[in-house]
Amino acid sequence: MDELLRRSEKLNTVGQLAAGVAHEIRNPLTTLRGFLQLQQQTQKLNVGHVDLMLSELDRINLIVSEFLILAKPQASKFELKDVRYVLGDVVSLLDSQAHLCNVVFNTDFTQEECEIACEENQLKQVFINVLKNAIEAMPRGGEVNIVVEKRKRDTIAVSITDQGVGIPEEMIPKLGDPFVTGKETGTGLGIMVSQRIIQSHQGTMDITSKVDVGTTVVITLPAVTE
Ligand code: ADP
Ligand code: MG
Repeated sequence: MDELLRRSEKLNTVGQLAAGVAHEIRNPLTTLRGFLQLQQQTQKLNVGHVDLMLSELDRINLIVSEFLILAKPQASKFELKDVRYVLGDVVSLLDSQAHLCNVVFNTDFTQEECEIACEENQLKQVFINVLKNAIEAMPRGGEVNIVVEKRKRDTIAVSITDQGVGIPEEMIPKLGDPFVTGKETGTGLGIMVSQRIIQSHQGTMDITSKVDVGTTVVITLPAVTE
């Protein structure tokens, strides 16, 4: 019975998601079609319209690629990794982008081993999503504190705190719903995708935030201890 309920809930979510994706992709497609039709009628290439068409195509591409992250093969490969190295890789990867935005990453990683069973690329995607949100929340720059600690014996906690614009209280419960975005060019898919990946790792993801003060995202993951 539980299994049936779980499956129907899952199907329902998939259906809602599919409807959302269809809607989000149809909008830019309609714009694209309109501009193409116009250029066909006038037989003139309008450079401004071409720019708009390109950015609409980019948007479709972004939405589709965020969804592809979820559409992983059924038998996924979990490997033993140390979270400090997985996160460290992502921090180096994004460091130059942060620098360009006057954002400084401070890291404080425990000396203890932090082995977990994970799908490395998926976990990296989560850290990328969260760090990107932190950078985007600080248009004038600032600091992001990235802490890895061991809690009790078997939980690893990763906390990412920024000094950004924060999230309005009424928006917090909606985070993780698809297409909820506060940004002009946002997709509102990053948190949803991240939450799903963390769930599939038996972890948790909590977001606390205060407008004009900043946001903290805490991700916990079960440690593998021998
Ligand atoms: P996107 O970044 O494409 O908008 P996300 O799912 O990553 O989608 O985030 C959804 C929304 O949550 C963002 O648009 C933003 O309004 C809010 N948000 C997420 N992280 C932060 C943060 N660190 N600081 C401020 N707002 C945030
Ligand atoms: Mg985002």
